Amino acid sequence: MRQSKLFAQTYREAPSDAEALSHRLLLRAGFIRPLAAGIYAYLPLGQRVLRNVERIVREEMDRTGAQELLMPAMQPLELWEQSGRDQAYGPELIRLKDRHEREFALGPTHEEVVTTLFRGEVNSYRKLPVTLYQIQTKFRDERRPRFGLLRGREFVMKDAYSFDEDWEGLDRSYQLMYEAYRRIFDRCGLNYRAVEADAGSIGGEGETHEFMALADIGEDTIVSCEACDYAANLEKAEAGPSNATTIQVQTPAYGENTTNQQPQRLHTPNVRTIDELVTAMQLSASRFVKTMIYIVDGQAVAVLVRGDREVNELKVKNALQAEKVEIADADTVLRVTGAPSGFAGPIGLSVPLLVDIEIANGEAWIAGAIEADYHVSDVRPGRDFTLTRVGDYRNVAEDDVCPRCRSGKLQFSRGIEVGHVFKLGTKYSERMNATLADRSGNEKAVIMGCYGIGVSRLLSAIAEQYHDGDGMAWPMALAPYQVHIVPVSVNDSVQMELAERLYGQLRDSGVDTLLDDREERPGVKFKDSDLMGIPIRIVIGKQAAEGVVEFKLRTRPDKETVNAGDVCDKVK
Ligand code: ATP
Ligand code: MG
Ligand code: MG
Ligand code: MG
Repeated sequence: MRQSKLFAQTYREAPSDAEALSHRLLLRAGFIRPLAAGIYAYLPLGQRVLRNVERIVREEMDRTGAQELLMPAMQPLELWEQSGRDQAYGPELIRLKDRHEREFALGPTHEEVVTTLFRGEVNSYRKLPVTLYQIQTKFRDERRPRFGLLRGREFVMKDAYSFDEDWEGLDRSYQLMYEAYRRIFDRCGLNYRAVEADAGSIGGEGETHEFMALADIGEDTIVSCEACDYAANLEKAEAGPSNATTIQVQTPAYGENTTNQQPQRLHTPNVRTIDELVTAMQLSASRFVKTMIYIVDGQAVAVLVRGDREVNELKVKNALQAEKVEIADADTVLRVTGAPSGFAGPIGLSVPLLVDIEIANGEAWIAGAIEADYHVSDVRPGRDFTLTRVGDYRNVAEDDVCPRCRSGKLQFSRGIEVGHVFKLGTKYSERMNATLADRSGNEKAVIMGCYGIGVSRLLSAIAEQYHDGDGMAWPMALAPYQVHIVPVSVNDSVQMELAERLYGQLRDSGVDTLLDDREERPGVKFKDSDLMGIPIRIVIGKQAAEGVVEFKLRTRPDKETVNAGDVCDKVK
């Protein structure tokens, strides 16, 4: 590519509202351009990196035997009603109507669609196992789209779905994906940790791991052991000895619109004051408990992660029969006074999953309900949920002893979730009738797993890890171009001839090369080159007449003079 024609402009400064470094660099270097909040165009340089990530993802997915397909972004809302997620997913789901007033959603994920497809296509266990994947644009009306590609409202995801006959099969499919994810992130050069994670609003039955790119800007906190391989999302982290309790809840079926049947965990850190509690809950607010109400000494505190402020206020007041509800901190914290002591539920506050919490004797009880207003009153232990004490838990702190090896110390770091593997079980297959007759002729729901990678998010995650004061420094496998040829003066015919010759040779041997043929001062060219982060730079200057050029790696300060004839070999 000739840079004089490149559809990209570099900027000296990034817009002041771009907070994340990766966001600033991607904008400044002309990789992406915003169209609206959380919605970006990928300019040619950005698109090339995106393609490189996609290529690696495809190669590793194909290697596992997964089959690529492409599903529609526009999904009939009816499918979401079948799975019960039209309510549960909440305001992140973008809805629209067609000209016939039929309702649709723009897919934030594809469990419903893939389960429907599977149901129509596979009618025998002999076709299993099967794993399907796609690389596709997803839509989520994120409450706070930010940090450029890190949290977009329209973004590119690789999503895969496995279908198995039994749980052992799911274990194998999951393991295959887990290993493929490791290879993908290794090949991308990412510095990451695979961590044990909580079940988010997908609501699964089993294991789940997140792949976290280590970066200070990350919105998740990772707890890891310095001595063994224990690593978990803080939401899931366990440590001992305990000063609080983890309670596992099993909610049995209850009428037509049953309560959520996944076991859930609630941490009850041993805090004494409301302020301590609020702080603790904000830290450990797990994703399926978007709203929580606690009562301490007759005062109730609601920690609201999202939702409409006035509606929340009213609902809390009614639900708790409280005298006064006071909003302490915008829409995050409500303080409630005059509430009857010891009972803090229900919480049906425009959240993906509604949760009832009861606190008694320092223990919290929790029941999940997927239907809005379903548990608004009269939640009864035993009927609506049962409790099992699954172990002791305490708020994890840095330097705590590792719960796994019991010898290493725990350390905290920040992470960007770039991938997520998840054992779904039969959640979707049961609700959407994806069943097959097994060997003895009994109809059984197929067992599913789902696996996501934030393809566009990866661009930002890599840029967070690969940069210096002058700009980005792409790993070879992802770089938009591998080699940047920079003739110092385009008006010097000797320099340009050599530049053109090298450009042709490199391209002929399959090396992606950018030739800076612009009439700019050398300082400007070098600055742009550093900003874009192309791994190898060949500078052609005064020594062109002797057939000598300068060879420099983006990540190293030193330069080397080499014979033009040796450049191709050296690059490879
Ligand atoms: P997060 O916790 O960051 O909101 P998530 O858990 O909601 O992510 P998943 O449903 O697990 O996301 O989706 C699979 C992957 O898609 C994530 O691991 C992440 O890499 C990516 N992803 C999710 N939301 C976004 C977004 N708004 N912008 C860019 N990538 C995203
Ligand atoms: Mg999310
Ligand atoms: Mg997440
Ligand atoms: Mg996730």
